[in-house]
Amino acid sequence: MGDIATAIAGLKKELPSSVKLVAVSKFHPVDAVREAYDAGQRLFGESRPQELASKAAALPDDISWHFIGHLQTNKLKLVLPVVSMVESVDSRRLLEAIDRWGAGHGRVTDVLLEMHIASEETKQGFSREEILQVAEDAGSFGNVRILGLMGMATFTDDESVVRSDFSRLTSLRDEICGNLRAYPGLPENFGTLSFGMTHDYRIAVAMGADIVRIGTLIFGERAY
Ligand SMILES: *Cc1c(COP(=O)(O)O)cnc(C)c1O
Repeated sequence: MGDIATAIAGLKKELPSSVKLVAVSKFHPVDAVREAYDAGQRLFGESRPQELASKAAALPDDISWHFIGHLQTNKLKLVLPVVSMVESVDSRRLLEAIDRWGAGHGRVTDVLLEMHIASEETKQGFSREEILQVAEDAGSFGNVRILGLMGMATFTDDESVVRSDFSRLTSLRDEICGNLRAYPGLPENFGTLSFGMTHDYRIAVAMGADIVRIGTLIFGERAY
């Protein structure tokens, strides 16, 4: 087995069957994605619209793509036709644009709301209050299904910081799910949590992640 197949097999063994693995293939070539595909992986994450569009065109149709990067509204037409989910909706403006695109194309897009949980200012996402506001207004977005939350912890070796970042996601999800009747625009199965990357996925799984997004561990270091 090649390194990619070995890494995927190892993760499949380690991850509980209820946890979905998004293999993050950004900045890695089509051949690397195909190797993962041949090892049985069918769910991939990309963070750049053009790169996603060209990979999706070059690779088999039974791949599910999740968009996980910052998405500009003028790039929706590259991304929305090919993804099964946009995990990284980080502004109300973007949510509205995805909804409008869906209305025009007869398509409902599954999304997660990205919450800003890291201490780095540079990372994007909604605040807790903004997410609660979007949840309240969810009924006005007829062409998106808001299925849950996504986040990225502070990049640090200090596990207590990572845990406390992640707990802001889990507690907000629990708060919303515990009072779902207050948010009639959210789907009944709201509650998906996507968190955990190469350096912190074990913590994420222990804390109840439904989706982990792993790149480096599978594909090696990215050439930036
Ligand atoms: C790149 C990226 C990942 C994967 O990161 P690794 O450290 O390579 O596992 C996960 N999530 C997001 C949003 C990313 O941009």
